[in-house]
Amino acid sequence: MNRYDYIVIGAGLAGGVIARKLAEEKDKKILIVERRKHIAGNIYDYVDQHGVKIQKYGPHVFHTNNDEVYKFISQYCTPVNYRTKCEAIIDNIATPSPFNFKTIDQFYSKEEAEELKKRLSSYYINRHSVTVVEMLKSNDKKIRGFANFLFEKDYKPYTAKQWNLNPSQIDPSVLKRVPIILSYEDKYFNDKYEFMPDNGFLSLYENMIDHYNINIKLETDALEYITFNDDKKEILYDGIVSNIIYTGAIDELCRYRYGVLPYRSLYFDFQSIQTKSFQNAAIVYPQIEDYTRITEYTKMPFQDCNEWTCVAYEYPVKYDKHAKIGFEPYYPVLTEKSQNIYRKYKKYIEQYINLTLCGRLAEFRYYNMDQVIIRALEIYHDMEDKNGSII
Ligand SMILES: Cc1cc2nc3c(=O)[nH]c(=O)nc-3n(C[C@H](O)[C@H](O)[C@H](O)COP(=O)(O)OP(=O)(O)OC[C@H]3O[C@@H](n4cnc5c(N)ncnc54)[C@H](O)[C@@H]3O)c2cc1C
Repeated sequence: MNRYDYIVIGAGLAGGVIARKLAEEKDKKILIVERRKHIAGNIYDYVDQHGVKIQKYGPHVFHTNNDEVYKFISQYCTPVNYRTKCEAIIDNIATPSPFNFKTIDQFYSKEEAEELKKRLSSYYINRHSVTVVEMLKSNDKKIRGFANFLFEKDYKPYTAKQWNLNPSQIDPSVLKRVPIILSYEDKYFNDKYEFMPDNGFLSLYENMIDHYNINIKLETDALEYITFNDDKKEILYDGIVSNIIYTGAIDELCRYRYGVLPYRSLYFDFQSIQTKSFQNAAIVYPQIEDYTRITEYTKMPFQDCNEWTCVAYEYPVKYDKHAKIGFEPYYPVLTEKSQNIYRKYKKYIEQYINLTLCGRLAEFRYYNMDQVIIRALEIYHDMEDKNGSII
């Protein structure tokens, strides 16, 4: 007999949300098992030797249009309004990212800029923004010209770096979806809520799992304890049939029986620098260098750290679970082939009714934090039977 009602595998956002709901609303005893030395998954942050709060797995800002998510997360932190500011470098000139009317002013003569802005406003009437792909298909030659300029100077080199593609092979349809803003507005996100948790993401997570029904076990690879009973279609944890919520990688769980799911990984080169400010914006996207962006953590949000700052150069790298660099799966490579493989895994796992999948790795999807919370809440509600109880 298991002393826990549920084993949650992975102490990331997905696992934490479901664990809290089950513990608090259904009085279930939960064990969260985490492979890493720390909780919070990819939203983990820590303070470096100069007092700078750093997000180990890349810059995170909470943004959402969803009131329920905002209300849920506000129970575990005080949201501090924050507005992400980004810049992109084109031909040594720093311009807002997403591109906006200022970009046009910077790269066109005064008259040409006025004409182009007018054309864009009347072509995309009452629109807040437009994608570069839409602009590339425009009937207006000048709009297409602007789109081509951005495509060649920014979208194409960025996409080549991010996905390791030869720039000449890049089809506009795979371009990152950062739109062009049809005004001077310089917000990176356009959501109803955009904020940072007052004490950071680790503190938010600690508060979320701080419940007498939740226990946590770190530095434990759950796969060493999981076995499949293929005859009875049951999953066992440490030899006992248990209700399992799994938020790790689905291919790994199934011992790669249908092959490896492809990911892009990242390498962060963190550098402490003795200066008050290293760059104008929190995040800067360069044009030609191998890294895709530089994040300055003392601007995420503002931190006054005695003349010290910390920047992270972010390099997309090949994913290899066994490599020294690139061993973390970050971005799923979504192709028809990889989706087919994923569907096979999903079908296989669906036979095992005591196992529930949730989160970016288990579902082989890119989720923002709000999306992963929505997903975890949906899964939690699906677990309820008609009487509102959970097995
Ligand atoms: C570079 C980057 C920047 C991002 N920025 C933003 C942003 O600004 N805003 C935003 O909303 N979202 C952002 N995101 C997305 C955000 O990181 C995810 O939505 C969120 O972290 C997903 O949570 P999760 O629980 O699904 O996964 P994870 O956080 O990865 O948690 C899964 C956990 O499971 C553990 N695990 C896996 N297998 C096992 C096992 N066998 N045994 C034990 N433990 C295991 C892992 O160690 C991990 O801790 C960003 C993502 C990236 C990559």
